[in-house]
Amino acid sequence: MITIDGNGLAAKIKDELKSEIDSYEIKPILAVITIGDDESSKVYVNNKKKACNYVGISFLHFDYVSFVKEAEVIKKIEELNKDNKVSGIIVQLPLPKGYDVNKIINTINNNKDVDGLTNESIGKLINKEDGFIPCTPKGIMSIFDYYKINLEGKNVVIIGRSNLVGKPLIQECLKKDATVTICHSKTSDLKSYTKKADILIVATGIKHLINKTMIKKDSVIIDVGINKVNNKLYGDVNPNVEEKCSYLSPVPGGVGPMTVVMLLQNTLTAYKKINGIKNE
Ligand code: NAD
Repeated sequence: MITIDGNGLAAKIKDELKSEIDSYEIKPILAVITIGDDESSKVYVNNKKKACNYVGISFLHFDYVSFVKEAEVIKKIEELNKDNKVSGIIVQLPLPKGYDVNKIINTINNNKDVDGLTNESIGKLINKEDGFIPCTPKGIMSIFDYYKINLEGKNVVIIGRSNLVGKPLIQECLKKDATVTICHSKTSDLKSYTKKADILIVATGIKHLINKTMIKKDSVIIDVGINKVNNKLYGDVNPNVEEKCSYLSPVPGGVGPMTVVMLLQNTLTAYKKINGIKNE
């Protein structure tokens, strides 16, 4: 069994990004908008800030109180859209109740949508056009590439149908010619699907939903879940799958660090597009 080293791979990509960004006199800028004080969001935003600092991306944080007017946030995004120095814009989700998430997200100019969440980015993903892919699915696809895990003709089962993870993963896995099944909270007899998965990707937020009795021998298991219990992190997959699978992307240290690094990569891509810099 091979344990996927998301920390190691993320560190390698970060160093490559850092050396490229070091060569640019003017640095990319990532603008991050937060509303309210969701505790997990604070941790995620702080991780993004640290990663930006490391590679040399300037981090602009607009931290709004939970009762800020939606129009004020929209106005700020419109300003950032017009500012040529700003390469990427993200709005940290979830937002407090009462905000129109779709309206806020879709205000972001598509060229700066480094989280890949606008309607236009989603359309481009479906039509296989050049656009930004959400960071977690992109990180998972990078893991497959790096570990040379071939998806062609494989049964890929994804558990979880969120806009952030499950839905974009369907398109990404189809692009690689996998046969894709998506399961969710209303799926009956989950085990009958997971048992058939050559590659199982789990993103539900339910601690240890999947255990060794539910998986196929020698399958590839990608655990996306983050569940904090008594200050300890657990995934959606019970580590006892190790006895049976061929690869395991663990929690922590698998998909999480890759997600952050893909945000940096998307921000650099946006910066290069805006500034007309071509890949060598
Ligand atoms: P979400 O919370 O929006 O949705 C959860 C999904 O799980 C839903 O589609 C639901 O139908 C499905 N689900 C719930 N109970 C189920 C059950 N019993 N059986 C089958 N499916 C069930 O999802 P999300 O935002 O994609 O997050 C999922 C998990 O992944 C969370 O733990 C989140 O913290 C984590 N996450 C991690 C990263 C990362 O970078 N590692 C990124 C995004 C999300």
